[in-house]
Amino acid sequence: MSADLSNPAIWLDGVSRHYTSGGQTITAVSDVSLELAGGAVHALAGPSGSGKTTLINLMIDAEQPDEGRVHVRDDVAGGWEHMAFVPQGLGLMNELTIEENVALPLRLDASSNRSSHRDIDELLESLSISELAHRFPRDVSLGEQQRAALARAFVTNPRVVIADEPTAHQDEQRARSIMAMFAGLAAAGAAVLLATHEQRILDKADTVFMLENGQLISG
Ligand code: ADP
Ligand code: MG
Repeated sequence: MSADLSNPAIWLDGVSRHYTSGGQTITAVSDVSLELAGGAVHALAGPSGSGKTTLINLMIDAEQPDEGRVHVRDDVAGGWEHMAFVPQGLGLMNELTIEENVALPLRLDASSNRSSHRDIDELLESLSISELAHRFPRDVSLGEQQRAALARAFVTNPRVVIADEPTAHQDEQRARSIMAMFAGLAAAGAAVLLATHEQRILDKADTVFMLENGQLISG
């Protein structure tokens, strides 16, 4: 499937976000308008401090814009299981095993259509964490924790996936196979957004949104 530009999953209209800190106002995101089309992998690029994480927080409703609006397509807004998020800090639950972490969205998603869910064993296998299924997050490497967080995002076959620095802890070969998994989701129609400063992700993305000092300078 090619990018569906006519019907974006999420779109931002003149969104700004300011922080006040020590009497100073910082504009973390400044008048950003963009569309996340289904069927494409989008990269959100820019140096540290350019506003990538703030922009993601606005998209996932973790923060509210001071100006402008964030729109979410009805079929995505209608169920949290349709929008997956992989935070930079991964957000695994320490008291659950790797497998239980990956399965958590399915346990919480009692209502919806289970036939759309991915097979957990296959998912763990494709991310090379099957052997670790019964370990706790603290007993595996950071790279393995990150792959578990990705598996947890993929497990519901979401329509939107937003990931902050998703291959930061991966070697070349793993990064390539993870990018192939994102591309597979996009090929099935999902809108994918990857915040990154890694060239290997930018090379594989269908579109690149470039942020500088909170402003969108291209994309
Ligand atoms: P990036 O993810 O691209 O590194 P961020 O979105 O984290 O950028 O930050 C953008 C800017 O906003 C930075 O100058 C950062 O210091 C500032 N900022 C982010 N969060 C806060 C906050 N809660 N309070 C004050 N300033 C913040
Ligand atoms: Mg960040």
